[in-house]
Amino acid sequence: MLIIDAHLDLSMNALQWDRDPLASVYTIRTREQQVLGKGRGVGTVAFPEMRSGRVALSFATLLARSTGKAVPHLDFDSPTQAFGMAWGQIGYYRALERAGALRVVTGAADLDEHWAAWERWESGGARAGSEPSLGIIVSMEGADPILDPEQLPVWFDAGLRAIGLTHYGPGRYAGGTGTETGLTDLGRALLPEMRRLGVLCDLTHMSDRAFWETLELYDGPVLASHNNCRALVPHQRQFSDDQIRAIAERDGVIGAAMDVWMVASGWTYNDLGGRAVTLSDVVDHIEHIRKVTGSARNVAIGTDLDGGFGREQSPTDLDTIADLQKLPALLRERDFTDDEIAAVCHGNWLRLLRSTWNARG
Ligand SMILES: [Zn+2]
Repeated sequence: MLIIDAHLDLSMNALQWDRDPLASVYTIRTREQQVLGKGRGVGTVAFPEMRSGRVALSFATLLARSTGKAVPHLDFDSPTQAFGMAWGQIGYYRALERAGALRVVTGAADLDEHWAAWERWESGGARAGSEPSLGIIVSMEGADPILDPEQLPVWFDAGLRAIGLTHYGPGRYAGGTGTETGLTDLGRALLPEMRRLGVLCDLTHMSDRAFWETLELYDGPVLASHNNCRALVPHQRQFSDDQIRAIAERDGVIGAAMDVWMVASGWTYNDLGGRAVTLSDVVDHIEHIRKVTGSARNVAIGTDLDGGFGREQSPTDLDTIADLQKLPALLRERDFTDDEIAAVCHGNWLRLLRSTWNARG
């Protein structure tokens, strides 16, 4: 089963943490034994495992905040520093593309060609080692690096196709997770520019207020790249059933995330809640979204598996990202039909991308 993963922080790990994703997960774990930092030495994501896991396409982020609260490698003192970091990250993806290690997908024709190549490979026997190159859609997690809304065309020309306005805490464009603030003036000015260019709006990490303000102001295509359900894990980072329904009404898509604190309520570092959290718990969220929206049309996968954590904070039956191939069988156990399984694994993201890009012409 081909998979689309709507949230990986490949460039942050490569540049801020010096992790080369061309090496295997196991090589990287060895290399990082002496590296101090959360998620180091226990990673689950690298290109060889993405290929064997048939993660044919992923949304790969640019991530460099400038919220006023500096955090090494992540949150920079000034927007100009954040710009420089994120610009370097997009340059890194282009360098990987030049090296033949991946393909930056930016439009409908590109997407069709890329997807057809993977389908041919799969139907032709799926011989390991002869996979087409991995594809990425460049997305931005927190718009802080965009110096001002007038700069968006420059980013678009470089390949940026989806933007989440904010991350954890306050943001230059919108209040993020843990805040109650809404869109800022910059955020209100950026949305029409995104609409004009056909840049997808990622609602993940928005405060509740920013979420609803965005849906009111912006009538373009929406997604939530990595987001779970508040009904199962009662925290603002997850979506209420009303928010889930609002996204479905716009025919948006929500990617189920695998950072386990967002998967099972009560999970903390010191206490696993008395039991292991597994991929089956992730399927609970997928099933909940199907129940709330009445179909499997608006739910997909957005793992966040390299989002500053590793095995210690992933489902216990997932050793590397290749284990995403366990999902189809788990979905089947919950009575998902073959069509629904394909929709969750890749079809829903394909539909959202195609309708966005075909509308742009
Ligand atoms: Zn995130």
